[in-house]
Amino acid sequence: MSDFEGLTALVTGGASGIGRATAGLLARRGAKVAVLDLDPSPVGDPLTGYAADVTDDASVRAAVAAAVHDLGGLDVLVNNAGIGAQGTVETNSDEEWHHVFDVNVLGMVRTARACLPHLRASAHAAIVNTCSIAATAGLPQRALYSATKGAVYSLTLAMAADHVREGIRVNCVNPGTVDTPWVGRLLDAADDPAAERAALEARQPTGRLVTADEVAAAVAHLASPLSAAITGTALAVDGGMQGLRTRPA
Ligand code: NAD
Repeated sequence: MSDFEGLTALVTGGASGIGRATAGLLARRGAKVAVLDLDPSPVGDPLTGYAADVTDDASVRAAVAAAVHDLGGLDVLVNNAGIGAQGTVETNSDEEWHHVFDVNVLGMVRTARACLPHLRASAHAAIVNTCSIAATAGLPQRALYSATKGAVYSLTLAMAADHVREGIRVNCVNPGTVDTPWVGRLLDAADDPAAERAALEARQPTGRLVTADEVAAAVAHLASPLSAAITGTALAVDGGMQGLRTRPA
């Protein structure tokens, strides 16, 4: 497909995992793509990397300005940078709550704020936020992380309403457990990584983890001009984890 031919995209957190797969897919479908990341060094041709920390408004504004200048405009923002957090309301400190909200929620707000003036100039403007099934499912040991993704879900709907008449669509993807370096780090920290992986796979109706490429395909679907009538939605990419009550035989 070449539905992004002539379009430009910025992907935050695009140096790893879901963001990296998304940036690559958008480029293969014709977009000129810039990646904003804490460490954009893994990003190679045809993508261009820009270093920024989404918790630092000045660095976000500078990176967005440089990327938009080099791309020659902006049609698509994939607001994807995020971090995990484990624990309950009793175990996570106020500092942890502030920091994870700063990255996962305010990071998306800052990036959107810097990008909106450029998106208004596009005839095919779209924002896709990486949310999570944690936004709408009760997952143990994920109180803080889930609260940030609940906020991302509400933010997606509110932004969709605020900008629909400006021709800017806003949607989110809700991935389940995705086989990215992030999940790799979780497994490495477990007492028995193989058993932990087996447990993660067993809770998937499909019996396997979601791949980053599968989430990227959903992001591209929502960002594509072919989806011009889709705004204010959340697309689950979770192997049926939330909606199904079945397990493979
Ligand atoms: P990842 O750790 O592989 O990649 C995250 C990227 O974000 C990294 O390149 C990192 O450098 C960047 N990043 C982190 N903090 C940043 C900051 N302050 N400023 C700029 N860049 C920053 O993780 P992933 O699994 O690909 O996760 C990407 C998104 O997907 C996150 O928003 C996450 O919440 C969401 N998600 C992941 C899963 C999963 O199972 N992996 C499930 C649901 C949702």
